[in-house]
Amino acid sequence: MFVLRAKYLLINPRTVIKNGAVIIKNNKINFAGNFNEIDKSQQQSITDLGNAAIVPGLINAHTHLELTHLDGRIDFTGSFADWISKIIQAKKAWTVQDSTLSVRAGIKKCIEAGTTTIADVTRNGFSLSELQKCTLRKFVFCEVINFDPSQAEETVIDFKSRIKGTNEDHLLEVGIFPHSPYTVSKELYTQCGKISDDLKILFSTHICETDEEIEFLMKGTGNLADLLRNLNMLKGWIAPGLKPIAYLNNLGLLKDNLLLVHCNYVSQEEFMMVEKSKGHVVFCPKSHRYFHHKNYPFQEFVTHNINMALGTDSLASNDSLSILDEMKYLYDEENALEPEDIFSMGTVGGATALGLEERIGKLEPGFDADITVIQLPEDVNGNFFENFFSPEAQCIFSVVSGSVCFDKYGLYNPL
Ligand SMILES: [Zn+2]
Repeated sequence: MFVLRAKYLLINPRTVIKNGAVIIKNNKINFAGNFNEIDKSQQQSITDLGNAAIVPGLINAHTHLELTHLDGRIDFTGSFADWISKIIQAKKAWTVQDSTLSVRAGIKKCIEAGTTTIADVTRNGFSLSELQKCTLRKFVFCEVINFDPSQAEETVIDFKSRIKGTNEDHLLEVGIFPHSPYTVSKELYTQCGKISDDLKILFSTHICETDEEIEFLMKGTGNLADLLRNLNMLKGWIAPGLKPIAYLNNLGLLKDNLLLVHCNYVSQEEFMMVEKSKGHVVFCPKSHRYFHHKNYPFQEFVTHNINMALGTDSLASNDSLSILDEMKYLYDEENALEPEDIFSMGTVGGATALGLEERIGKLEPGFDADITVIQLPEDVNGNFFENFFSPEAQCIFSVVSGSVCFDKYGLYNPL
């Protein structure tokens, strides 16, 4: 059992307590409230984190750690298809060792950023083996890619062999990640849905990311069609003539275990489809900026009661793997959003999307002890979130399932 105390404590996005403290016992939150309410007659370990905020652990609901070493190497010049080609090219000469080191660098960045739960997409399984060794809570989504309908069956068999032998524990779950509607055949998408039902695993996919994707599905033309044609992947394909989410709906894939990543361009009809399915949306704010997308439809998602989580996506389209950085960016750029709603997306929203809303995302007694501590600048205006989202605010400490995961200044004081 140990106690963390700090100037502030956030039990949930709307409850800020001054002179806060949290007691962690048997990996769970035992108490979260004012430090003065703690029984101090017993000798116990107390770590004072000072001018900081103890908050629910930050959740990154979408990233690709395998691409960490592409940091700053891929520029975007207006065509999404060209951007994909550059990634394929840049990774061509990577060895197993290169990919492994890239994943390790990504894990380190996530931990230092105060992430306690990560949903990572692995192409080759490198991140599965590396993440298994680390103390983060993780969802490892194994990516499947194949646009040839005749190979759907064998791609699925390959997926099953990739996850076979994975020792899921209380900190690790696997999921399935068909890459996108322009890299996965209709037949393979359908099979992925069936597997996620049979194995009761989460299902996630990139969707409605670009105008190019919509043109590809609606008309079968544009840059993505050209890219696939050049890769000899378009043989016999006929565009479904549907918008991306409508296409997934048509395949019977919209369900409450589905994480729809991006959703930058969504029609009214599609908002209603997602609402009805109780599926979740993962928004990647700084990646959205990197590609110069149009304004994000926050209000529509709120109106349709659609749960929203935050992701960083990879360093091929971002300069950071920090959910705090994503929240700071939204606080600075999206005036229509309340700071509590921004904070909610990076905690409760992520927990809900990953099916863990009864266990993480809040600091309530009985919840798993997943905690992030953010050091704050000197308080000049008395506005908590102004300080929390300021450029100087940084992670100094984190706890995952009751174990200290990151301690920047060596403050942890066990008895
Ligand atoms: Zn992605």
